[in-house]
Amino acid sequence: MNAVSQEARTSALERYEAVIGIEIHCQLRTVSKMFCACSTDYDGAAPNTHVCPVCLGLPGALPVINRRAVEHVLLAGMAIGAEIPAATRWDRKNYFYPDLPKGYQISQYDLPLASHGSLTLATSDGPFTVGITRAHLEEDTAKLVHATGADGSKVSLVDFNRSGAPLMEVVTDPDVRTAEQARRYAEELQLLLRSIGASDADMERGQMRVEANVSLRLRGDEAFGTRVEIKNMNSFRSVERAIAHEIDRQAAALDAGEPLVQETRGWHEDRGETYRMRVKETSDDYRYFPEPDLPPLHLDPAWLDGLREALPELPAARRDRYQASLGLSAYDATVLVGDPGASHLFETTLAVDASLDPKQVANWVTGDFLRLRNQAAGPIEVAPAELAALVRLVADGSISRANAREVLELHVASGDTTAAIVEARGFRQISDAGALRATIDEVIAGNPAAVADYRAGKVEVVGFLVGQVMKATRGQANAALAREAVRERLDAEG
Ligand SMILES: [Zn+2]
Repeated sequence: MNAVSQEARTSALERYEAVIGIEIHCQLRTVSKMFCACSTDYDGAAPNTHVCPVCLGLPGALPVINRRAVEHVLLAGMAIGAEIPAATRWDRKNYFYPDLPKGYQISQYDLPLASHGSLTLATSDGPFTVGITRAHLEEDTAKLVHATGADGSKVSLVDFNRSGAPLMEVVTDPDVRTAEQARRYAEELQLLLRSIGASDADMERGQMRVEANVSLRLRGDEAFGTRVEIKNMNSFRSVERAIAHEIDRQAAALDAGEPLVQETRGWHEDRGETYRMRVKETSDDYRYFPEPDLPPLHLDPAWLDGLREALPELPAARRDRYQASLGLSAYDATVLVGDPGASHLFETTLAVDASLDPKQVANWVTGDFLRLRNQAAGPIEVAPAELAALVRLVADGSISRANAREVLELHVASGDTTAAIVEARGFRQISDAGALRATIDEVIAGNPAAVADYRAGKVEVVGFLVGQVMKATRGQANAALAREAVRERLDAEG
């Protein structure tokens, strides 16, 4: 199953169509939990230190709604063009599990904060729009920790620090057709949530959890096939690999006449395959009913208007602007917008000097800046004014591209200004033919054999002679100018 040949995969996809829906849970960026004042800053804290009667589910404790969490979901809803209801409500989702102390989760059932939105993303086949059924607000569960006790027995411990943290669930329509679309959707949603400040949405840290429902049907069929839910995908790469594997697995089973069962499967990263976690014989019955401890929430139109006005430029709009107004390629626009640090440097550098060529600035940011930051494996400081100065010096031929690269490295290392580094290193190019003349005379005089070769028709020795000029000027000669001057000089003598 693991090594499915490309031909087998292609032929399966010609016969079957994958129908994929995606559910994503995101932890919202708030100071306190969803229904109590406990701090959400529990990452790395000792277990059960961020708890109170409300998030421990003690009898008689009453919830209070976190306004900021509601605003994050409303903003997310507006950012995906969703409908926002005039009023919403909280519902109890009843089930028993040791990580759920109340025996129910406060969630939203038939009146989510946002519904009928969409998100458009770029794929290798062009733009693709995913319908979003709903986005609602709920509380997170506690965390089970499976450990080995002092006597060697296996124990399960409960850490309630996460219990009651605000969580947004975003559910797509069954619109997604390929593993790549699924990965791109998750990436684009992460970017969107980060851009509006709703969530850090770091998959590796569990702040964003992706689940997918995958089924296959023969092309042309309307009815859905048997649907399998996939969990435990801990990176964007896992999302794409797990779904691709699941499509292959289901296609092989259907081809072999084996019936598929409705089940939940986990993704095993190292083995590169999905495995059965549990079979679903009946649909879950959570016996939802309205939460009696919380009143319905009326969404004041003035409040919504204020939020709408506060929405920043969204990633898709920013990519469009970079291409349409600034003339960047789709690739550069995507790289810049996908990296907040890069787009910030790009924008602030252009703000220093509006006469700079945006494409040149984008090249520096997506190339050298990101390379240096990756090498540093952490944040680095580039002053926008110094990058602007550097781009200008390269554009007017004052310094070479290679030397400019070194200037940027030295600026990052020392914080010195571009002007100071260029001066100290003697990087300013000799772009005056007159100033180069004496050097060229010396090189011609010192290499009679090369000059003789040139006369004999070996024009490629020009490169060698230009190299000698560059060497004699310690790289400061403008190479194009030096080449022209050497040729003129050789031709004039002949
Ligand atoms: Zn609490």
